[in-house]
This record gives sequence, C-alpha cells and structure tokens, in this order.
Amino acid sequence: MRRNVFPVAILHSDGDYAEVVPQLVRLAEAEDLIGAGESVLIKPNLHMEQHWTSGGTVNPGLVGALIEWAKERGAGRVMVADGPYMGHSRPERVFTETGMAELVEAQGAEWAAMSRGAYRSFDNASEHLPPRLEISELVFEFDRLINVAVMKTHLDCQVTLGMKNLKGCISNANKGAFHYEVPDINRAIVALNRLMTPDLTIVDGTLGMEGIGPATGTVANFGHIFAGRHTPSVDVIAASAMGFAAEEVPVLKLAREQGMVNPDDIRVVGEQLERIRRRFERPHEAMLRELPGLRLCAEGACSSCKLNVIRALRDNVSAGAAVPGCCLVMGKTACQDGEAIFLGECARERAAGRPHLAGCPPKVEMVREFLAQFAAEG
Ligand code: SF4
Repeated sequence: MRRNVFPVAILHSDGDYAEVVPQLVRLAEAEDLIGAGESVLIKPNLHMEQHWTSGGTVNPGLVGALIEWAKERGAGRVMVADGPYMGHSRPERVFTETGMAELVEAQGAEWAAMSRGAYRSFDNASEHLPPRLEISELVFEFDRLINVAVMKTHLDCQVTLGMKNLKGCISNANKGAFHYEVPDINRAIVALNRLMTPDLTIVDGTLGMEGIGPATGTVANFGHIFAGRHTPSVDVIAASAMGFAAEEVPVLKLAREQGMVNPDDIRVVGEQLERIRRRFERPHEAMLRELPGLRLCAEGACSSCKLNVIRALRDNVSAGAAVPGCCLVMGKTACQDGEAIFLGECARERAAGRPHLAGCPPKVEMVREFLAQFAAEG
C-alpha cells in the first residue's frame, strides 16, 4: 500500500511576508488549496491583546499576506477569526489593540471574535473531551481553514504550535473544561485535532517565544517559518527546530502513538532542519532562573491563572520583594504542603480558611498585592 508523505516547508523569514508566503505555500504543495469563489477562514493565534513584537501573537503582516494570496487564488469571502483566553470580557480588543482589525479591514476582508458567535456542539465525541464539545460555527461555515500559529513554548504543554492553536476555536466553557474537567489537556488537544483538520497550517517562528510561554516568555528571534497541509507533521518539524524531541512534547507523543503522525512520513522541503535547529529555553528552566525558590502546586490550572501569578511575581521581584516561601496553589489539584496560599476560584474550597485570593483568573494587580504579603524573609 502506498504511504502518504506530508511535505513540510521551512523558509528563512525576516518578516517580508508578501515575498515569503507564495514560496512557502508552493513548497508545502498547497497552491491549489483555494478554488475560485471559495470562502476562506484564517485562524491566527490572538490569545490576548499582546503586540506581535512580544512573540506572543501572530504578526498582522503575515495574515495580510495570506489574505492577498487567497484573493489572488480567486477566494470569495475571507474572514480572520479567533477566540481569546477564557474569561476575556472584550474579545474584540485582541483584534483592535494588536493592529489586526485595521489591517484586515484595509485588505477588504472581515474579522470576528469567535466567542461572540455561535458554536456547533459535539456530544460525547471522545472520552478525552468535555461531554459537550463546542466548536465555533465559523470553522464549518467556510470552505477552507488556514491555521496560523506562533512558535512558542508553553508551560503546560511544552510547546504551542498548530495543534494547540485550534483550542482558540472552542467555547469559553470548554476552554476551562480542557484544564480542570478533562483528565489530560494533551489528550483533549489530540482529540480536538481529530474533529478539526485545517487545510493549511503555518507556524511562524520569524519572532517566536521561549521561556515561560505562551504569554510571559522572552522573544525568540528565530527567523524561520513553517507550513504544511498536515498539522501534526508541521508541529513535529517545528518542535524539532526548537530542540524538542517528539517524545518530550506530550501532544506529539500521543499523536504519534495514536497513528496521527509518523516522522518517517514527513518530507522537509526548503531549509535544512539540522542547520536551523536551536534549543528554546524550556518554561521550567526559565522559572528556576527568574523566580528561584518558587513552589507551585498548579497541575490542571488554566494557563491564565498561572501566567497572571508569574507576571505578578516578576513585578514583585523586580521591585525588590522575594518569591513567597510557601507553596502557591491554583486549580483543583490537592496540595500536601501544610504551608500554602491559594489563588483563583477553583482553589477556594481547598483553601479551607487559609489565605485565598478570589478571581477567575485573579487580576495581576490583585495577585501582586496578595503575594507581596507572603514574600520570603531575606
Ligand atoms: S480560577 Fe484559574 S484555574 Fe480556575 S477556572 Fe479560573 S482561570 Fe482556570
């Protein structure tokens, strides 16, 4: 039987996307992706209103080049849509504050915050998913889906690339459930990728993020961009370029075990992987370096809770306060440590009279003040 071989294109990129995108698509063998008059949905990573120069969100310039390319191929309606992190009260801001809205409108395309629209329900789709999974209707309304991720490390999943980027398409309730209801977020992401298969996935490492990603890491000026029609294959190659073996990344390990991807069936085209590979700093390494002594008990907590705590701790440390000496508990996981403080609604019950800060997630300013009271003695 003939095996499918999935090309994954790698190109050097200095941000001149108008030049890079047509070459990238050609190398990825995706030039015929869009038929005349077909509608195209572009799903960038806009998890929060963070400027693209932080390496946290997709550069609007890349989306602009994709819109232009799609229109040249004869696309009809083109829309750019994403749903930011759970609990974001004004999701439109991730478009307006990042310059994405302005650029999309200037290109004659539409944009939408997925969390304002309708969702399609999938009941009992997998034991690894919430019983009722809700995916944005937009995903099904358009003929083609282009998935655009940024190359980043992630404190829960090691990396966030094309497969993880699809989590932006699920409802707010499901985003929370992926962290605290399903037994394993990585298995949930793999199961989600069985229900949603983008027609093209791009992982942009022109500027990526390393360290405590996906929002509080440091900019990685990696200078390369990846694309392919098979999302797990693109992720295997992008993760490898960041110095991660597939076994180190739970989502990729599971995808491989479940037969969704096989490194032997990937053909890299363009730049040579061995020549561009460089090790991205892992989230736990950055935490040890930046916040020595930090003790977290936060397995299963949402990244928004953890990232707000890390942001607040960084601010306190740079203002001269030490990291608290006790354990910081978030989410619903039990903590055996007698001396602990609790943050977020999920940890309320567990606090049982001990110090607790409310909020879902608690706001950074509040966390800063709260944690300053527990700074370890010098
Ligand atoms: S309190 Fe934190 S861990 Fe719990 S649902 Fe809210 S953001 Fe997630």
